[in-house]
Order: sequence, then C-alpha cells, then structure tokens
Amino acid sequence: MNPAAPQSSSTTSAAAIVPRIVPRSEHGISRKNISSGALRVLYRLHEAGYKAFLVGGAVRDLLLGGHPKDFDVATDATPEQTRALFRNCRLIGRRFRLAHVVFGREIVEVATFRGIGEDGNADRQVVDGRILRDNVYGSIEEDAIRRDFTVNALYYDIADFSVRDYVGGLEDLHSHAMRLIGDPEQRYREDPVRMLRAVRLAAKLGFTIAPEAAEPIQRLAPLLADVAPARLFDESLKLFLAGHGLASLRGLHNHDLLGQIFPATAAALAGPNRATFGRMLGYTFESTDERVRSDKTVTPAFLFAAMLWEPVRATAQKLIDEGTEPAVAWPVAADRVMHEQASRVAIPRRFGLGMEEIWALQPRFEQRQKKRVNRLLSHPRFRAAFDFLVLRANEEAELVELVDWWTEAQEAGGAELSRMLTQPAPAGDDEGIERAPARKRPRRRRRKAPGAGGGAPVDAVE
Ligand code: ATP
Ligand code: MG
Repeated sequence: MNPAAPQSSSTTSAAAIVPRIVPRSEHGISRKNISSGALRVLYRLHEAGYKAFLVGGAVRDLLLGGHPKDFDVATDATPEQTRALFRNCRLIGRRFRLAHVVFGREIVEVATFRGIGEDGNADRQVVDGRILRDNVYGSIEEDAIRRDFTVNALYYDIADFSVRDYVGGLEDLHSHAMRLIGDPEQRYREDPVRMLRAVRLAAKLGFTIAPEAAEPIQRLAPLLADVAPARLFDESLKLFLAGHGLASLRGLHNHDLLGQIFPATAAALAGPNRATFGRMLGYTFESTDERVRSDKTVTPAFLFAAMLWEPVRATAQKLIDEGTEPAVAWPVAADRVMHEQASRVAIPRRFGLGMEEIWALQPRFEQRQKKRVNRLLSHPRFRAAFDFLVLRANEEAELVELVDWWTEAQEAGGAELSRMLTQPAPAGDDEGIERAPARKRPRRRRRKAPGAGGGAPVDAVE
C-alpha cells in the first residue's frame, strides 16, 4: 500500500491534503460487485473526459465485503454537463443539486464535487451554523472533507481502479471507527442528522463511534428538534427497518438521542413499566431485523405501533382511571400519542392509520361472541393486529390463552369454529384488556414473537 498517509482529518485546507492511493492490486473491490448502471455512468463520464468516482457508502461497504444496494458517483462534471451525457437523466434537489441517472429500477446518483466556497458569492446558505443549501462546486479534496465520516469519504477511481483516501478513512475502516471529518461539534451543528447517522452506521457496520465524535452528541441532541419531520421519517426508516433496528435502538437510547425522535418511547423506557416495555421492543425489533434479513416484507406501521404502545396504553389507562369509558379512552389516547409523535417524525398517513388500526383491534380479541369473531377474522388488518397480540403475550401472561384461542380459531374450519364459539367464554372476557386479572401462567409454553430468540431487553445493554 502507498505509505503516504493522508494528513490529519481536522485539516481545513483542502489544497494541502496528500491522498493515500491504493492501487487495484492492493484492495478487494471488484467491478463484479458494482451495479451495471453505476459502471455505465462511471465509464460514460470518464470517456467524456470527466473525472468519475464511486464514493460514499458503496465504496465503504465494498471494502468491507458487503453488497451495496445503491451506488453514488462523484464527478467534476456539473449537473448540466452530466445531464447532457445521459438520455435517462433528471436533475433533482434545490438544497443539493444532483443528477439522477435511471436504469429501469436502478437510480445512480451523480453529484458534482462540492467545494468550500468561502469567496462570499457562492450558492451556499448557512444559518446559525447550519447548512441549508450547498451548491458550490470544487475539487475532489474539498468534496472529501465536507462529507460526514472518514469511512464515507473513500473514492474508487474508474480511471485506474484505485481507491483514494483523503481523510484517513482506510485506517478507520480497519479499526471499525466512525470518526467525523473535522471538528465534531461544528459538523453536528452544520447538520444535526449526522448524530443519527453516527448511531445508524455504527449499528449497521458493527463499528464504534470514536470518542471525540460521541462526546458532543448528548449535549447537542436537542438540535434535532429543528430538523424537518419528513427528513426524520426517512432517517427513522433507515435506522429501524434496514436489518439492524435493535442495534440502532440501543445506540439511540445509549446516546440519549431516542428522546429527540421518539420522545414518548424514550419516556416509557424510563417509566414504571420500562422492563416489560424494553423486552417487548426487544422482541419486536429482533423479529423485524430477522424478517428484513430474510427478505420478508416489513411495515413501519407495525414497528412504530410497538414503539408507541406503552405510551398509548398508559395514556388510555390514565383516562380510564379518571372515569372515561374504555371505548372512548383508547382512541383518544391513540390520537394524543400520534399527535405528539407527528411533531417530531412525520409518519405518512397510510402508516399512521395502520398503527391506529392495530391498536384499536387489540381490545377486540377479548370479545368472542360469534358475530364479532367472524368480523375480526375477516378484518383486513387481522394479521398485523394478531401478530401484535402475540408480541404482547410475551410479556402479558394473561394474553397467552387469547393467543392460543385465536390461533385455533384461524386454523379451525367452519364446523370446528362453530363448536369453539358455542363453548362458554373463559372468565375475564369482555373486560377491558387492562382490567383482565393476572392469571396463573397457562399450561402451554409462552409463545415467542416470530424469530425472537429470547428478546434481549433494550435497557440491558447500557
Ligand atoms: P447507507 O447508504 O449505507 O445508508 P451511506 O453512507 O451511503 O450509507 P447515504 O445517505 O447514501 O449514506 O449518503 C451517501 C454519502 O453522502 C455518504 O457516504 C457521505 O459521504 C455523504 N453524506 C450523506 N449524508 C451526509 C451528511 N448529512 N453530511 C455529510 N455528508 C453526507
Ligand atoms: Mg448510500
């Protein structure tokens, strides 16, 4: 390998950076693992005389032996010059102008090297230290140091298949460290979402956040309050629904970030039911991660419904204790909790409705009169609501009997179901779920959420 290590990552003068260049023979990135679309974009730009690099998460993941799903390209061609080279290209973004080259279902994102642009008349808008718009173009060195983490600033050069490192990313990749480029506090102030990215990428890669990058997080976490809720929704999906949700949840919890994006969840994890709720989240996230890893579908509605379950349950209970009818208390509680959550993370309406339905169906499992049973069995959300009940039964022993009953009801044919329905309902039916008396553990083994191998509690990892 080239012994010339790049200068310290706190370098602010891009011109002074000496890159470390690793030739093709000394790294493991093979073009076989790069998508055909990304290769076409890289070659076309190169043939037209522009510089063309694969950059960011794809290079990082390829060097770690992973299989990236999306590929980002960096070039010295402007977005307009890029568009002129491809028929299937559109320019997007106002804050950050980018070219998207589309090949069927694949989209290759092409970004022009971003510059430092301190000459005063550049198209960059910074308010209170926060970068709101950045369309200043520059050199590859400048592009490297405005990226977030060193391991995200590695470039794969299509001209000679070498890897270029301007900020010490290779070393950090080797030692599994998420290290910010430059001054951590300044970089978090420019864009507070970087705090979430630190936790997310550490969870995804099994890396550690470098101490100087971890230190300011707790202090600066409140800056996330000003981030657009829609952006936080996108980031939440990447945190929780990409196969490493449990590790992300633990990371957010440990760095005091959870309260910034899911305040009610964080409060419940510190409240009187924290042990039970922590274990329930452990089961949920474990089974979700397992499903993602085996390419099964997952819905944010189910996961978010679990994250907000204890807050909804506690709010409903409080209303009931104050004399509100359960039938009124539950929807009111759901509405309140959703409303508060929406001020942080913008959950799209279709998922919000799904969550409310999953919650609303829970008390209906208690009602086993013939008509109601048939109606519930044919409800479009039955499956999700039943899975949710299974999840709760891991912690609420009195629900195990219900789960068993509904499992049989689903498997039973018409005649068998009729027989089940004419038998007297077990004691405790039709009481609100919160009032069901705690029964002795039933004979049957408690059911685990699908794929939950024990369900590690969230708060057992502090
Ligand atoms: P993954 O795709 O695995 O989630 P990624 O690192 O590729 O991770 P993207 O959001 O796809 O994340 O971003 C691509 C690249 O753009 C990053 O690797 C990084 O170099 C740069 N980048 C993304 N977000 C930021 C940010 N908030 N600040 C600075 N650079 C960023
Ligand atoms: Mg990416």
